[in-house]
Amino acid sequence: MPDIDRKIRLLMQLRREGITDTAVLRAIETVPRERFVPEALRTQAYDNLPLPIKQGQTISQPYVVAFMTEKLALKERMKVLEIGTGSGYQAAVLAQICRRVYTIERHRGLYLDSRKMFDELGLHSIVTLHGDGMKGWPQQAPFDRIIVTAAAFGQVPDALTEQLAPGGLMLIPVGDSSGQQIVRVTRHEDGTIGKENILPVRFVPLVSGMPSGS
Ligand code: SAH
Repeated sequence: MPDIDRKIRLLMQLRREGITDTAVLRAIETVPRERFVPEALRTQAYDNLPLPIKQGQTISQPYVVAFMTEKLALKERMKVLEIGTGSGYQAAVLAQICRRVYTIERHRGLYLDSRKMFDELGLHSIVTLHGDGMKGWPQQAPFDRIIVTAAAFGQVPDALTEQLAPGGLMLIPVGDSSGQQIVRVTRHEDGTIGKENILPVRFVPLVSGMPSGS
C-alpha cells in the first residue's frame, strides 16, 4: 500500500479515536513520519504504533502525538518548549502550528540526526539544544506551552513549572509504580498552579543529567 493510502487510513483512525482539531490533523497529514523512523521500519511509519529509534528510545504513537498536540491548545504566536526531541517528529508536528518551537535532547546522536532532518525538511523555525531538559531552557523562558515526551518519575520537575508563562500550560507524563498519566499543569494568571491527569500512557523515562561520552 502506498504511503499516501496508509496516511489517509491513519488520519481516519485518529478522527475515530476523537481527534477533531483540524490544525492537528493537517499537521499530521503534512509531516512525513516515514522520514523520522528507521529505514527498516518505513512500511510501518503510518501504523498507529510507537516505533523504536536509536539509543533505545521510541518515536511516540501517532495517537499520543495528536492527542498531546490537541490538548496543548496551540496558537500560532505561542512559544513552545519540547523536552525529548528523539526522532524530531513531535517537534515537526508542533512547527506546523506555531512559529517558535524549542526542543531539547540529551543524546548527542539523536540531537544531531533530528537537526539534520529539520534542515532537510526546511523546518527552520525549530531551535534545538543538546542538553538536560529537566532543567528546561532558562535563557529562552518563559514558554506559553511545554510538552515533555519522556516520563518524569514521581513528580513534575520544578524548573519546568517555573518556566511556564502566566496562563501557560504544560503536558508531562508522570509515572510511579502503578503506571503513567499525562498530567496537565496550568499556571493560572494569578500565579497558582493546577494539575490534573488526562490520559494513561507509557513513555520512556525522563533521565536527569547527560549520557556518558555524550
Ligand atoms: N518526541 C520524540 C519522542 C522521543 S522519546 C519523538 O517525537 O520522536 C523521549 C526522548 O526523551 C528520548 O530521545 C530521550 O533521550 C529524551 N530524554 C529523556 N530524558 C531527557 C532529558 N532529561 N533531557 C532531554 N531529553 C531527554
